[in-house]
Amino acid sequence: MEHNQTEKSSPNEQKERRFRSSRFFKILISLAVIIMIAIPTGVSVHTLGALHETERKLTDAIDRYEALSHSEAIWYGWEAESPYAELYPDFYAPQPLQNGVRKEGVIYLTFDDGPSVRTGEILNVLKEKDVKATFFVVCTKNEYNQRMMKRIVEEGHTLAMHTGSHNYTKMYASVEAYLTDMYQIFTQIKEVTCTTPSLYRFPGGSINNYNSGISHELIAEMLRRGFVPFDWNISSRDAATVTPLPVETIVENVVAEAKNRSYGIVLMHDAQSKSTTVEALGPMIDKLRELGFTFEALTPETKSILFAYGK
Ligand SMILES: [Zn+2]
Repeated sequence: MEHNQTEKSSPNEQKERRFRSSRFFKILISLAVIIMIAIPTGVSVHTLGALHETERKLTDAIDRYEALSHSEAIWYGWEAESPYAELYPDFYAPQPLQNGVRKEGVIYLTFDDGPSVRTGEILNVLKEKDVKATFFVVCTKNEYNQRMMKRIVEEGHTLAMHTGSHNYTKMYASVEAYLTDMYQIFTQIKEVTCTTPSLYRFPGGSINNYNSGISHELIAEMLRRGFVPFDWNISSRDAATVTPLPVETIVENVVAEAKNRSYGIVLMHDAQSKSTTVEALGPMIDKLRELGFTFEALTPETKSILFAYGK
């Protein structure tokens, strides 16, 4: 009975805890609620023990992400106590966390860093090929770019969050700094398109040299708010060089990786310098179709790929 052992820590410790804050009572109340929910649903005693600590609770949410049922998600993540709950109280996805479904034979084309002067060209190719895709966008003051945000939504693609600033040192300085950054792009998407984003992608991937100390906490806090992170399992490598990669190389990079997979989330970039990515898009779609793949935009129900958890 792991949770009983924790409760039987010395009286002095408990007293100290009570003096420090009202956290003791909050934990008691949440424990009572959790027990009421957990016993009928048969959740293990080990799980209850883990829920004593907020930090553990948040980490737990992501560890169990794959196994979460809808109702479990609500009390693990959505309703869980968080040290960041006071920050940006309207920064929540429109729905609680969903279970991810992996669709075999589906390719999800994704574009990071836009909108840019290329967005219209990308959208034209997607329209011509009748393909829906996903755009992880950055804050922009440019009017054309803002029109492109609207067009992405109007044409049935998924508009998702990438970052407000794309400044790694600034945004990954702390959990608070990350939330501040992401709240900017969340707010702009809402203001410009009148839609609320549910999905996001970390600049540099969910674990990188700038966020490795806090990446799990970032993911857990975003999950608590209902936001689903997406890394990728196929890279076009169009960001690997300053000069644009040859069209054939981009197509080949994606097709070669897709051949080894039953589904794929493809990383590409939407930026002025990435002219060949736009040119590669049509031939890439044709070749992937020849391999039997279909195309969809990411949704909150799509099973996520997450480097930070080896998933
Ligand atoms: Zn980026």
